[in-house]
Amino acid sequence: MDIFKSTESEVRVYSRAFPMVFNRAKNAHLYSEDGQEYLDFLAGAGSLNYGHNNDVLKKALLDYIESDGISQGLDLFTTAKHDFIEAYKQYILDPRGLDYKMQFTGPTGTNCVEAAMKLARKVKGRDGIISFTNGFHGVSLGAVAATGNKHHRGGAGVPLNSVTFMPYDGYLGAEVNTLEVMDKMLSDNSSGIDLPAAVIVEAVQGEGGLNVARAEWLQGLEKLCKKHDILLILDDIQAGNGRTGEFFSFEFAGIKPDIVTVSKSLSGYGLPMALVLFKPELDVWGPGEHNGTFRGNNMAFVTARTAIETYWQDDAFANQVKAKTQVLGDGLQAIADKYGADFYVKGRGLMRGICCPNGELAGKITALAFKKGLIIETSGPEDEVIKCLMPLTTSEADLKKGTEILAKCFAEVLSESLSQAS
Ligand SMILES: *Cc1c(COP(=O)(O)O)cnc(C)c1O
Repeated sequence: MDIFKSTESEVRVYSRAFPMVFNRAKNAHLYSEDGQEYLDFLAGAGSLNYGHNNDVLKKALLDYIESDGISQGLDLFTTAKHDFIEAYKQYILDPRGLDYKMQFTGPTGTNCVEAAMKLARKVKGRDGIISFTNGFHGVSLGAVAATGNKHHRGGAGVPLNSVTFMPYDGYLGAEVNTLEVMDKMLSDNSSGIDLPAAVIVEAVQGEGGLNVARAEWLQGLEKLCKKHDILLILDDIQAGNGRTGEFFSFEFAGIKPDIVTVSKSLSGYGLPMALVLFKPELDVWGPGEHNGTFRGNNMAFVTARTAIETYWQDDAFANQVKAKTQVLGDGLQAIADKYGADFYVKGRGLMRGICCPNGELAGKITALAFKKGLIIETSGPEDEVIKCLMPLTTSEADLKKGTEILAKCFAEVLSESLSQAS
């Protein structure tokens, strides 16, 4: 591992928590060079919803490469892109009554957030964006301005302008409807808030600590945006692609955001790909006005199309995810119940975790989990939330195994800190 430490930039982060050289992976398991097996509850930070090296996707990809299919296509019309668009329309958008145009951006999440924010600003002719406390939208300059985390904001090196933060659902306690605060601020000519172009929001805050917006809140936010002539951007980069048990994380609320950003598990195989969906009347772009060389990762189009055709033609896969959600939830709840009200389960779907009283404790637990063969991350403002983000294809046996390892880690770390305190 010396060459990594001597030569790779200090900016690396996951390899600090999991200092091992990995060389192979299958579904919910990672293998290290020295032959150890790890259960992967991180899953490429939610970019491997269908598991590592999913056999169905792998076969489609290998066949495509073997046939000399186009690999990089800029924004040229290609067969692979055609087939992806058709499948996404037929199995994802049309059945949900969503009439969206599709913009392929550079292949990362932050890229499609940039495009979404630019588009909203261009449509409305205003520069302001409202984001929410604990929101995470990426780290390029436009997107990081809408990201709450101080550490990420601090890396920018320039002032981060044109974004105002409002309290997310539940931020001011269960009794306060934060939309009332927002409505008041937007309605008052002297509140100091200029009318923004858009609001950007996650239905479940992934990096921000698994905070969940209620359906009523999302519905209220949609109404509030309409009332004030603001566009609603739903960032579904982490919570989408089936993570919550529905394809989009906002379906349960029955809302239709003006703009949706999608990336992470979109390609299904961990290949970089990002997409902005927006209502057709918002398509005011001029040719190439927002572009990028790598907007045509055709191998990603192939695996993305195959993932949709394999998992989203009917409800079977979504129902499996819902059943697994129950298994995971039960396992986590059983752990939290043992340690009193300071520990509680957060999140939705297979994007769930346990909030600990502080980050130090959560970090000790995840470090011990790694020693016991479980890769799992923390999130939240103090890294206090132990966050499960396993592939949706993880077997129920592996879900149970993972929560059993976590239960042991909680027991060991907490008995140790109790004996230190006494
Ligand atoms: C990961 C993430 C992003 C940024 O995606 P990158 O591919 O890391 O640039 C943006 N928004 C949300 C909600 C994310 O989880």
